[in-house]
Amino acid sequence: MVHKHSPTPEQVQELLKDEEVRISLTHCGDWDYFLSQLTNELSRKCPFCQVDEKKNKSLDGSNKYWRVQRSKFPKKHSEIHLLIVPRRHITHIKELTIREWVALLRAGWWVLKNFDLAGGGIIWRFGSLKYTAASVRHSHVNIIVPNLQGEIRDPLAKTPAKVRENDTRLEFFLSHVLAGTAPDETWKKHMERLKLSFEKKD
Ligand SMILES: [Zn+2]
Repeated sequence: MVHKHSPTPEQVQELLKDEEVRISLTHCGDWDYFLSQLTNELSRKCPFCQVDEKKNKSLDGSNKYWRVQRSKFPKKHSEIHLLIVPRRHITHIKELTIREWVALLRAGWWVLKNFDLAGGGIIWRFGSLKYTAASVRHSHVNIIVPNLQGEIRDPLAKTPAKVRENDTRLEFFLSHVLAGTAPDETWKKHMERLKLSFEKKD
């Protein structure tokens, strides 16, 4: 996927002045995901506030306050990855009203009755991205069932080596965006080598 309209260096610089935006972009580990997030940030769009019902159908357990959906970017090695997303743009759970809490229980109940969840985990990040290692500010509940084909890890904070790796990857992605090019698959190997050198330094 190549971006249709490359942003100007000025636009990118302006965007990165917002520390939360910069952090969110460092947390995008994949080129396609990075591009979709960058596009959202440039147009000040929130992926959970502007949902395309055709591309990502809301499931029947949705209600007035919450949207139940499948993740558009399911975790690697997940069998099931569902999201329960507040309809309002909420970044911290302390913003939720009692009505919303009750409606969340209803949505959760529906998920339990309609999916055969053998086991798994619920991950719900909230607040500043500094404390969540997330890339999307709109807080949402993840329900993940692994497929047992590999490890699933979802950290709230990164190691210093990982932070350096993410910063480097962001610089690399940005250089491509500004040049109007897309990285070929070799960037992943390159990142692996860098990752090892960063880990050694720690
Ligand atoms: Zn939102």
